[in-house]
Amino acid sequence: MIPASFDYESPKTLNEAITLLASREDAKLLAGGHSLLPAMKLRLASPALLIDLGRIGGLDYIRDSGETISIGALATHAAVAASRLLLASSPLLAQAACNIGDIQVRNRGTIGGSLAQAHPSADYPAAILALDANIVATSQSGERVIPAHSFFTGMFTTALRPDEIITEIRVPKTAGSGTVYKKFHHPASGYAVVGVAAVVRGATGKIDDVAIGITGVAEVAYRATAVEDALRGKPASAIAEAAKHAADKVEALGDNYASGDYRRHLAQVYTRRALQEALSSKRK
Ligand SMILES: Cc1cc2nc3c(=O)[nH]c(=O)nc-3n(C[C@H](O)[C@H](O)[C@H](O)COP(=O)(O)OP(=O)(O)OC[C@H]3O[C@@H](n4cnc5c(N)ncnc54)[C@H](O)[C@@H]3O)c2cc1C
Repeated sequence: MIPASFDYESPKTLNEAITLLASREDAKLLAGGHSLLPAMKLRLASPALLIDLGRIGGLDYIRDSGETISIGALATHAAVAASRLLLASSPLLAQAACNIGDIQVRNRGTIGGSLAQAHPSADYPAAILALDANIVATSQSGERVIPAHSFFTGMFTTALRPDEIITEIRVPKTAGSGTVYKKFHHPASGYAVVGVAAVVRGATGKIDDVAIGITGVAEVAYRATAVEDALRGKPASAIAEAAKHAADKVEALGDNYASGDYRRHLAQVYTRRALQEALSSKRK
């Protein structure tokens, strides 16, 4: 459980970090360390240089940017979970964040680190997809805005280029919609066996628009488009039938704890519950 030896740098500015990252192919960024350090101890990752982002000031903000809320990549899960701004204007990410791991993990882990890690059972991806959020990646070439739907490309794989650092996440405000994150926790790891994020806009029991992100079921989090298509413009009574399509055309993962069939079943049940709760929790 001892990692291979590595060089260590702790830049004070984003520019320094970007320059360091561009200078070495064998470098890796270190944020909260809650995914990278265990991987290094298991020798699943052996970067020759660690670039610690922890001393870069001003990258942990959560601020109002008009129609969106901007979140710095170094905002911890605990800060996201407790953010009054998010809870008031776009609560889905906070609802997901308070489900992550335990208090130690939430105090150290960062939103940028979690998104870059792209763990197939991580909580944020479901919410990021349902919100149609944007991820800002910065490199020596400048800023690149990556929409959520093209960010997660596979298990532990993203659209990030090797020289890019996630610097910001932009989430739309969800006034007028109900949002809910429902998670079936793995009893040992705490990760999502299945996690469903729902954004529902509607009135008097009718669904005008809906977005559903699902994590834990497949190699990569996805939008449950078959459920969404079956619900737009429909009454709330259509939810139970529509939720049965939550894992349509999805190749479900199976392991010692939960088979693919069980995950598919959980996806349907948790999608139904998330939608019913989101519709009844609609915000002004
Ligand atoms: C016991 C335990 C339980 C957990 N339970 C859950 C859970 O229930 N749900 C869940 O979602 N997660 C869970 N996690 C994971 C946790 O959320 C991690 O914090 C997260 O996955 C990684 O964030 P980090 O800041 O620790 O990143 P690090 O571990 O420092 O880095 C992870 C990866 O991202 C890269 N990286 C970091 N920051 C950036 C950036 N700004 N730009 C580009 N690349 C970057 C690193 O190079 C590395 O490859 C758990 C972890 C532990 C140890």
